[in-house]
Amino acid sequence: MNTINQYNFLDKRVLVRVDFNVPLDENLTITDDSRITAAIPTLNKILDDGGSIVLLSHLGRPKNGPNSKYSLKHIVAHISSLLKVKVKFADDCIGQEAFELSESLKSGEVLLLENLRFYKEEENGDLIFAETLSKLGDFYVNDAFGTAHRAHASTAIIARFFPNSKCFGYLMAKEINNAELVINNPKRPFTAIVGGAKISDKIVIIENLLNIADHIIIGGGMSYTFIKAMGGAVGNSLLEIDKLKLATEILDRATQKGVQIHLPMDSVIADEFSNNAKTINCLSNEIPDGWMGLDIGEQAIEAYKTVINTSSTVLWNGPMGVFEMEKFAGGTRAIAFALANATKNGSFTLIGGGDSAAAIHQFKLENEVSYVSTGGGALLEYFEGKILPGIKAIQS
Ligand code: AMP
Repeated sequence: MNTINQYNFLDKRVLVRVDFNVPLDENLTITDDSRITAAIPTLNKILDDGGSIVLLSHLGRPKNGPNSKYSLKHIVAHISSLLKVKVKFADDCIGQEAFELSESLKSGEVLLLENLRFYKEEENGDLIFAETLSKLGDFYVNDAFGTAHRAHASTAIIARFFPNSKCFGYLMAKEINNAELVINNPKRPFTAIVGGAKISDKIVIIENLLNIADHIIIGGGMSYTFIKAMGGAVGNSLLEIDKLKLATEILDRATQKGVQIHLPMDSVIADEFSNNAKTINCLSNEIPDGWMGLDIGEQAIEAYKTVINTSSTVLWNGPMGVFEMEKFAGGTRAIAFALANATKNGSFTLIGGGDSAAAIHQFKLENEVSYVSTGGGALLEYFEGKILPGIKAIQS
């Protein structure tokens, strides 16, 4: 793989596309800096070689140009403290100031450019915008796995201007290696845990997993469409009526392929979608009208723990219930601890980004599992079998 290990960056000005799209609270304080810390080894390697760095990132989804709420200036101090280098900041990612600051960078210095998404050209993959950005450095490193599934100007298009001077950063390489390990050569039994709200968002990944997994554990809102498809009563639980046929087809295909699909035998049901709701434990196929399943139940937890504990490889994407509300976090917490336990016993456990990563951090288990991916959508698309534009741009 073409990584920064193969290069020396002495006196080079290196454009590094990072994914510093971190969550900020109402006081604009970072609430989870794992995406920043994950890129630090790459940045340190360049600085240790004697290079300088121009950081490219986006933050949030600004729609109409510059907006202080989405300014990367809020994270400058934190990056400085992690790198132990005073990070400079350009108020605009292109234009005179950015050019002058980047030109004047000396060995060991770091410049962060303002949010790329203040220009619609970024998400449009605009060639001229990409070329303008490319002028800010003489080498391009992509370490932004979280946005690798987007063909944006700074994640993919820009690589065309560095035909012989581009590579992956350490984070990107680690993400690709871990995903490949699970996709191509999983130690068996291999169990995939898929949760979250809807089947429609996870359908392609489930179809692909049918070709590689031994067990598929299903949790979260999507379970109820499967349970309904099997003739169960799901009350007011989340249901995708138009996906019932698809759910039946998936169950049939799993049987043909010898893949065991596990659905939650029981659920924690609630009389309203609220942390103050009345709750009871109930069989998942006997949920009365007016009640909804918002978490997997105790029997499901025990059954899922047994499968996880006897697996050598486990992939987890999507929560088992509405884990943002404490009353419905039990299933997700139990699965997170089961993964930690399996890891201790020698299994390889890969946590997909997004909500599963948030849950792992919430339960402070990030160091107890094999790898927590920084990419939610990107990892999903990888497992869907797609070639990610950010990866292709470096390889081609
Ligand atoms: P996804 O983005 O598809 O991974 O879905 C994550 C969301 O699904 C989280 O915000 C959860 O609160 C939600 N979720 C999980 N289980 C349920 C459920 N049983 N009913 C409704 N929403 C759920």
